[in-house]
Amino acid sequence: MNDFTYHAPTSLDEALAALRGAEGAKLIAGGHSLLPVMKLNLAAPSDLVSLAGVPGLADISDDGDSVTVGAMCTHAQVAGSATVQGRIPALAAMADGIGDAQVRNAGTIGGSVAHNDPAADYPAACVALGATIVTDRREIGADDFFQGMFMTPLAGDEVVTAVRFPVPSRAAYAKFANPASKYAVAGVMVADGPDGVRVAVTGASGDGVFRVGEMEAALAGSFSADAVAGISVSSDGMLSDTAAGADYRAHLVTVMAKRAVEACG
Ligand SMILES: Cc1cc2nc3c(=O)[nH]c(=O)nc-3n(C[C@H](O)[C@H](O)[C@H](O)COP(=O)(O)OP(=O)(O)OC[C@H]3O[C@@H](n4cnc5c(N)ncnc54)[C@H](O)[C@@H]3O)c2cc1C
Repeated sequence: MNDFTYHAPTSLDEALAALRGAEGAKLIAGGHSLLPVMKLNLAAPSDLVSLAGVPGLADISDDGDSVTVGAMCTHAQVAGSATVQGRIPALAAMADGIGDAQVRNAGTIGGSVAHNDPAADYPAACVALGATIVTDRREIGADDFFQGMFMTPLAGDEVVTAVRFPVPSRAAYAKFANPASKYAVAGVMVADGPDGVRVAVTGASGDGVFRVGEMEAALAGSFSADAVAGISVSSDGMLSDTAAGADYRAHLVTVMAKRAVEACG
């Protein structure tokens, strides 16, 4: 790992100034995606700007028709939040299924969405629930935010401050997890929310999270596992690795979609 300068700002303005102060500066939240990448020398930031001391980024609020989760909320915090459990239980359950206890106690929602790993769970939750990513300067709908493997519209000096989730009438997430890491081999979130039924898949495609329009239309007509049971997705563009081949991942999408619909009750 290369040497770097560590910054511990105590306000958002200080964090932004530190980010703009060095061309190779990067934010660090839980460090559970960034540090492994640095250890492999796939990233070598000149400066790390920690968000740990920036106040106001780890709150969870119930705003009536939506729940807002601060960017520095850990997965454990989201899983254990009475607000999230009460308003969007599928989101709490999804967060509880991320990695292991160490990952859940360090990794954050802001880091997860900014990193946009194609096997991460939050992208599916954000897209299915129709979430909005809030930054220091703008709000970005989830459909526009996740732009492909590790790609988002975030500027180099932009800070995700929160994620706002509309409260659905029903939602559930089903994941076929890699037994070692718990990353999704294929994970499907189904949500029936203010914008209708949305089905979002993570883990399966090299392009990251995607929606399955045919399943959404079928569920809008009849919200039942049978409605999606006969719908298959193409294996073109699916990931193929030691965990699963492309055809198996495509098969898993239908199976996980059925399970998620069943879990909606
Ligand atoms: C063993 C292991 C198992 C895992 N299993 C899973 C799993 O099952 N499911 C899953 O979804 N994830 C899993 N993860 C990933 C984990 O959830 C990470 O914590 C998460 O992806 C990144 O969050 P972080 O806070 O650690 O971000 P960091 O590693 O600190 O940062 C990641 C990236 O986001 C940027 N960033 C961080 N915060 C912000 C912000 N607020 N605004 C803008 N940019 C920001 C950083 O600059 C960096 O580029 C696993 C990780 C490990 C190590």
